[in-house]
Formats: sequence, structure tokens, C-alpha cells
Amino acid sequence: MPMLRTALSDFIALIFPRTCLACEQALSRGEQHICTTCRTALPYTDYHLLAPAENPLAPRFWGRVPVEQVLSYLRFLRRGRVQHLLHQLKYRGQSEVGVALGKMYGQELASSGNLADIDLVVPVPLHRRKLAKRGYNQADAFAEGLAASLQVPWSAQALRRNSYTSTQTKKNRAERWENVANVFEVTEPAAVTGKHVLVVDDVLTTGATLEACAQQLLQAGAARVSIATIACA
Ligand SMILES: [Zn+2]
Repeated sequence: MPMLRTALSDFIALIFPRTCLACEQALSRGEQHICTTCRTALPYTDYHLLAPAENPLAPRFWGRVPVEQVLSYLRFLRRGRVQHLLHQLKYRGQSEVGVALGKMYGQELASSGNLADIDLVVPVPLHRRKLAKRGYNQADAFAEGLAASLQVPWSAQALRRNSYTSTQTKKNRAERWENVANVFEVTEPAAVTGKHVLVVDDVLTTGATLEACAQQLLQAGAARVSIATIACA
């Protein structure tokens, strides 16, 4: 009954208009999560198209941890579409948009031949208390979408976050590092041994959290680690 289903979804859309998670404009039929205008206008970094030496995110990890690639889908701009999207993903229960963004990015990476040898996608975990409070981990959603497009498995259990860290925003880089250095633990080293692991998170800022995860994975026996985030500040 496709006619009836369309009529029903039109009726539902009338009562609960679906809006673009980036700009709040009503979505047209066939559009999902993000409108066509926003999909065109989002500030894509396209860093995966650059030679690794030209990637401006790579130096953030130089001298800290050896990572193969550091990729980020979008540029984070305050009060812009990306901030709005990430807010919906993180605080408004819109985990589906994380999956959608992961799929979109994964398709681009796959078609560019980038990250073709990834074996496993691992999201930066939340502490279980925070996870219980929020109900989901936004990095899991992105990992799920990326893994689907890259056609590799992902695991929310590979890393565990042990102690509860207070908010990072008011700390300087050294304090942030102290805060996260020993927080992460690889639960099952055999699951990462010899593998090229892609660690993913929503936003890359100082990189302290991702650095700590990468360190633990390499210490546990991962062959190589790469990083991918939805946005970079
Ligand atoms: Zn939009």
C-alpha cells in the first residue's frame, strides 16, 4: 500500500514536521536528516583528498603518538550548521544523524580509496555513567555509519573508559592530557592485535582524548591507528 503509506507519512509530517538537523528548515519528501541545500553548503574539509604530508590535522599528533591518518569530515564553525548538527547529535537524541554522517563520509572515503585497509572501527567510549544518562554514545553512531560504508566491523566494546572525567573545556592542554592519559583501557587486546584500527569521535579539538585512545590501542598490539572525526575545530 505505497499510496496509503505516503498519505500517512504526509499526515505525520503535517503534525510533526521533519526539519533539517543543520538549518531547521522543513525537509522535503525524500530528504533525510539534512536538507539538500545544507548537504551542498556544509564546510567539507576534503582532507582525504590531500597528500598525507599536506593534511593540516596531522601535526596535531606529531611527537605525541604515531598515527597513520587524521581525517575529519567537516569544519566546525561556531553558530554554523555544523555546530547545530553536532548539538542535535549530542544533546537532542538525534543519534541517527551520526549514522547518516558516518555513511556519507564512509562512501567518500571508500570511493577515494582512502582508509581501504582499515580492519576495525572503534569509537571513543563514554563513561558508563554518562552513557546511561545520555542513552547513547554519539561516537558509536558515527562509527556504525562509517563501518557500514567501509564494509568493516566496528566495536563499542574494544575500548573502555574507566574513571569519570570532569568537563574538559576549562582545562589547558597539559591538564587535559593528565585528565585522559590513563582513562582508556583496551578490554580485549586479541581483538585489536595486528590490526589497523580507526578511532572515531565527534569533534577533534586538542586531540588529547584521541591521542590517549591511540596510545592504548598501540600498546595493546594494534599494528596501526588512524583517526576520523565528524568535525574539527
Ligand atoms: Zn538544512
